[in-house]
Amino acid sequence: MLQVKNYKFWFCTGSQDLYGDECLAKVAEHSKIIVEKLNESGILPYEVVWKPTLITNELIRKTFNEANLDEECAGVITWMHTFSPAKSWILGLQEFRKPLLHLHTQFNEEIPYDSIDMDFMNENQSAHGDREYGHIVSRMRIERKVVAGHWSDPIVVGKIASWMRTAIGIVESSHIRVMRVADNMRNVAVTEGDKVEAQIKFGWEIDTYPVNEIAESVDAVSVSDVNALVEEYYSKYEILLEGRDPEEFKKHVAVQAQIELGFERFLKEKNYQAIVTHFGDLGSLKQLPGLAIQRLMEKGYGFGAEGDWKVAAMVRLMKIMTADVKNAKGTSMLEDYTYNLVKGKEGILQAHMLEICPSIADGPISIKCQPLSMGDREDPARLVFTSKEGSGVAASLIDLGNRFRLILNDVDCKKVEKPMPKLPVATNFWTPQPDMYTGAEAWILAGGAHHTAFSYDLTAEQMGDWAAAMGIEAVYIDKDTKIRDFKRDLMLGEIFYR
Ligand code: MN
Repeated sequence: MLQVKNYKFWFCTGSQDLYGDECLAKVAEHSKIIVEKLNESGILPYEVVWKPTLITNELIRKTFNEANLDEECAGVITWMHTFSPAKSWILGLQEFRKPLLHLHTQFNEEIPYDSIDMDFMNENQSAHGDREYGHIVSRMRIERKVVAGHWSDPIVVGKIASWMRTAIGIVESSHIRVMRVADNMRNVAVTEGDKVEAQIKFGWEIDTYPVNEIAESVDAVSVSDVNALVEEYYSKYEILLEGRDPEEFKKHVAVQAQIELGFERFLKEKNYQAIVTHFGDLGSLKQLPGLAIQRLMEKGYGFGAEGDWKVAAMVRLMKIMTADVKNAKGTSMLEDYTYNLVKGKEGILQAHMLEICPSIADGPISIKCQPLSMGDREDPARLVFTSKEGSGVAASLIDLGNRFRLILNDVDCKKVEKPMPKLPVATNFWTPQPDMYTGAEAWILAGGAHHTAFSYDLTAEQMGDWAAAMGIEAVYIDKDTKIRDFKRDLMLGEIFYR
């Protein structure tokens, strides 16, 4: 399901014809070597494609417009090998609509002390060529990433790799379609929002279907398909009967298998990549989708509970940004549930009624059937596990009435001290940066939600760069956060993003 297009990034080198053809030949040769080495580095998640050196207004404009039209081009990396008068870039930049990275590098790493002369200086002048180009991009108020350093440095290549995932988020955002089979939970504020504005800002299409339409799709799944999937579940997960009759238990699990297949067919048929449900609006569904939603999230679908379409879209966005990450640790919707406030052991137990993605699981995953304390349906089957240790980012997109704000919190995921045998849901446990109390205070001051989109495989920088490209405010809660400064950030945001 989680198929990302065969995206590529164009590498465009700027120069001019002032120093003759010999110099331009060197420029092309150098930029070809850089592209080749970048691709050979093994660090970049997507291929870089070399483009002929840009030296005229016409060619710059043409190249940027070709990039706009090329469906596989996810962004352009620019670098000024020599001086490139930046007025030449104005029309092209004005018409360019894709993610832009300015790689501020130079071909040689060291000054060739013994041989350096003015020819060398004129040929290798990114130090001022990139400043001229950077000036016009800033003057035109174009959002872009600037990465400085030698192109062979793995840190520099790592920054390009990280930005590539942001760029995928930017270009893929407008392909996210969220299916709502329930409205937002009654009286809840933070899961609400302006869907029209979300489409204008992020490109998200958010549509509603009557829940019974998808329930019909569930009913249409054949018994043999259900049985085959149940067998897969039983081979893959531990079965925790906890005193229940094995046959009755299996029937409960089969209901979720049928929901998984029926939902997925419906989503595929109608081309949706994310879904929201609501425990209070299940129509003819026999159980709240639990295990089924967990499996769909693992396949790459976004999910938001209680009608939370913003979280559904954000989970999908973060899934697509992390597609094919080597040794990925996972991405899921989570909910701030309950605290441990013992000094030195502080943290937030993250869980939900059922729907946590098993991609974040650590160790064995079990199936349990337990009553829900809410709603009026059968005891739903669900996957139960604890999550990996390590750092991650929790993201909350909120609607402030006149605009969106993305709140980003660096969190440290840990193991809880003891098992929780009576808790029938998947959990994660984290301590927010910079510490439990400052983190929680800042989150609340910013208006952050209880539902979050969480990933081990993305950074706040990547998510904040995505927000910047969408033209919305991002606030960061991390190791450097101090409440007084944070409140000033929020005040500045009120002015800047009004
Ligand atoms: Mn919830």
